[in-house]
Amino acid sequence: VLSLRGATKRFGGLVAVNNVDFDVQENQVVGLIGPNGSGKSTTLNLISGALKPTSGTISLHGSAISGLRPEKITRKGISRTFQLVRLLPSMSVEENVIAGAVFGHRRRWGHEAHAEAQRLLDRVGLGGKGQLQIGQLTYIDTKRIELARALASDPKLLLLDEWLAGLNPTELRTGIELIHSLRDEGRTIILVEHVMDAIRSLCDACVVMSSGSKIAEGTPAQVLSDPEVIRAYLGDDDA
Ligand code: ATP
Ligand code: MG
Repeated sequence: VLSLRGATKRFGGLVAVNNVDFDVQENQVVGLIGPNGSGKSTTLNLISGALKPTSGTISLHGSAISGLRPEKITRKGISRTFQLVRLLPSMSVEENVIAGAVFGHRRRWGHEAHAEAQRLLDRVGLGGKGQLQIGQLTYIDTKRIELARALASDPKLLLLDEWLAGLNPTELRTGIELIHSLRDEGRTIILVEHVMDAIRSLCDACVVMSSGSKIAEGTPAQVLSDPEVIRAYLGDDDA
């Protein structure tokens, strides 16, 4: 479905993403993992169009999407959550969710948009909270709205940036089940995560990044037992 070839992003002298290649197959959950600052969020930003690659190509079903505006990329069926939630504080929960559908390919209006927002809010565990203001919500609830908003455009490819971070064990279990159910309905998912249990239970394949480069690729069992991956997580300079 999605291919990255030589994807590179520089910020001045820093190479945040360095010549990264990987493929994501239809209906797979691919984990994008690695230590802090390794370039995971930047990679998602390149895929979602929030950033333009300095060089390299990202293509969807064989045609290049790198360089397209984020709205165009959403229209092609890709949507995402942000590591730091990005909600509109002056709008209600439901309005935030509906805003996510604006660039979707199944745009709805009026009563239909309202009904769809209710359905998505139920799904993420926020049924009945549609009329609240964003400021009245807990952190976890804002993450749930982020996901409902990302789902409002009915994406084929969903990019989740540490969506499970900060959840308690019960919330984590429900969150993992929810991601399973998104996969079961035919979505392809790129999961940026530090929660290893989630990676083991959800991912078909993992791409491991360190200092901007891909250092390993394989099943969760393979990469999590790879000495180079373990070294990257522990840090090179504490030897
Ligand atoms: P984390 O697990 O902490 O979220 P990450 O793997 O998502 O880390 P990135 O956010 O992609 O890492 O950052 C990779 C590198 O690029 C870091 O050194 C970061 O400081 C730098 N970086 C990211 N965005 C920018 C930016 N807009 N301008 C300058 N440097 C940036
Ligand atoms: Mg990040």
